[in-house]
Amino acid sequence: MVIFEVKSTTMKNIAFLTLLLMIIPLYSCKQNSGQETKAEVITEAAINSIVDTISKHNPNLDSPERLRTGVRQAAMQWKIEYGDSDVFKNFCIENYAETPEKRRALFDRLSVALEALWGGFNKISVELKKPMHLVGDTLAHIDYILGAYDPSSHLSEDFYDNKIAYLTILNFPFYTLEEKEKNAGQWTRLDWAYARMGDIFIPKASAAVLQLVADAEMKGESYIADYNIMMGHLVNNEGKKMFPADMKLLSHWNLRDELKSNYAPGAENFEKQKMIYRVMLDIVEQTIPLEVINNPEYDWNPYTNIIYKDGKETKANPEGTRRYEMLLEQFRAQQAVDKYATAYPNALLRAFDQSMQIKQEDIENMFIEYISSPKVKKIAGMIKERLGRPLEPFDIWYDGFKTRSAINEDELTQKTQRLYPNAEAYDKAIPSMLVKLGFPQEKAAFLGDAIVVEPARGSGHAWGAMSRDDYARLRTRLSAKGMDYKGFNIAVHEMGHNVEQTISMRDVDFYIMNGVPNTAFTEANAFVFQKRDLQLLGYGKTNEAQAKMNELDIFWGAYEIMGVALVDINVWKWMYAHPECTAEQLKDAVIAAAKDVWNKYYEPVLGGKDSPILAIYSHMINSPLYLANYPLGHIIEYQLEQFYKGKNLAKEIMRIYSLGNLAPQEWMVQAVGERISTKAMLRE
Ligand SMILES: [Zn+2]
Repeated sequence: MVIFEVKSTTMKNIAFLTLLLMIIPLYSCKQNSGQETKAEVITEAAINSIVDTISKHNPNLDSPERLRTGVRQAAMQWKIEYGDSDVFKNFCIENYAETPEKRRALFDRLSVALEALWGGFNKISVELKKPMHLVGDTLAHIDYILGAYDPSSHLSEDFYDNKIAYLTILNFPFYTLEEKEKNAGQWTRLDWAYARMGDIFIPKASAAVLQLVADAEMKGESYIADYNIMMGHLVNNEGKKMFPADMKLLSHWNLRDELKSNYAPGAENFEKQKMIYRVMLDIVEQTIPLEVINNPEYDWNPYTNIIYKDGKETKANPEGTRRYEMLLEQFRAQQAVDKYATAYPNALLRAFDQSMQIKQEDIENMFIEYISSPKVKKIAGMIKERLGRPLEPFDIWYDGFKTRSAINEDELTQKTQRLYPNAEAYDKAIPSMLVKLGFPQEKAAFLGDAIVVEPARGSGHAWGAMSRDDYARLRTRLSAKGMDYKGFNIAVHEMGHNVEQTISMRDVDFYIMNGVPNTAFTEANAFVFQKRDLQLLGYGKTNEAQAKMNELDIFWGAYEIMGVALVDINVWKWMYAHPECTAEQLKDAVIAAAKDVWNKYYEPVLGGKDSPILAIYSHMINSPLYLANYPLGHIIEYQLEQFYKGKNLAKEIMRIYSLGNLAPQEWMVQAVGERISTKAMLRE
């Protein structure tokens, strides 16, 4: 639906900003800056002696193993400025909660404190960002400064200095994803909550090292942000210009969208698509002349790769390796982090085990099952028939599975503008809308009270609370005439986020378990709501034909993005296997990885042997290893929708989202009885 669009990335990020805001800074402060860790400060012998002493004093310890893990993990992060081995030993003896009761009491106190801190910081951030987020006066310079200020930025540093971090690590050790998944069968809710406590203070690189990552990302970002192709200056072999003179497209999003828009009827559209495809190949292969990037002074024939200045052929300089230098710099920055981030010691583990909390192999297997499914060929056959020509590699972006709504959009807009002339009207209507979805009266009122609707300056977003006494905020765009249908459709999507945010904050048994495993899980509920928007307007069920087309569109979109994500993963695996590589070698490796995935899973469907087109994604350069997140929202949505069939939707949403922040696989097992899988999407 909207997950593949840039706009929805932003929406999703903001929907999750609370979590990022509050948790990432915790990891990103200076606890390690220049300080030595375990090897220099606390020896193995010292760790043994501490464990022996505590064990001797407490012959009935519930878990000697956990004691050792806690002491070892605390020792790894202990800083020399806090004192020597003896000081550390005394700290452990004094602060180890040796009985289950003491440990629980400590857990409860920490939970209360964390809710006060994270919840409070979130409230401050909401206030500081209000001028930027809500309709109001013209923005002043000060609004931007205040909006960018993060009140929680020193929290982690302070908690290391006052030793609360060590006290937490000592008593609530960190478990890897593998350990969490292995223990999932035996763990109680409290065990999970303790494990989540152990995720808070994990070893992290210093601010200076993390700055390297930020710099590399920033460099990639500005490289991409200026990568425009002047379409009006492209010429074909007959010297003809096919695109509007002032058309300027950013790689790769705008290029792709222009390619998509040319599926509309038009005599020259197929040729335009082929030309865009040729440009994309030149970007991947870096044969593109430097002169034509973000520069309207030259005409360029991408088929012959000849450039012209003032109508005369001129010498072209290929871009060479610049694209891959950017990627290499990202890799080098991540390598610098690896040494410190001992809990997740490489970028792949950080992207999968840590952020997504799904094993990279699980993702790969799931994606491969999907893109090699016979259903792909079947749908490709439909596309071929609709196009009336053999398929081309760029048909991974086929955009024809779109139908108009059965109900006239103007009619819908008239209705939404009448119902929702302002944000308050939508706010008031939330309980009755939720009742339409099957929520009990009382629960609908409770959720309505917990969600506040405000007029957004931008396109809108859902901003969750970080404490149980705060609101989830639905920011929505309205014109002077009120809410148009498109705005309503998005508001319903955001309301899905808000309902999830509220249930997973207020109905979860332990505060530390609040939320969902990762962004895809909140997106899934937003999609589930958005799909039912017409029902909320009183139109009964959604249009069947339209729903079918929408499903085909999502299916084909997922087929494309999964291949791109696999290339991204394979490139990072290759870089870790060849850490000394040059940009030139990396270029060859990326192209080889793209061709490999293409020839295995796309060439049999679309032809075009050895096409490197899957390497065109700009995300690979400016935010590597994020692509796998995109299809996940729909995978989870389909699995949930399949499970909801024939059940009470609202009742299941309430049960499932109160599971909170379990690891994703365990969440899905408890939600629908099976692990995360693409089977629901592959079903006829
Ligand atoms: Zn969303």
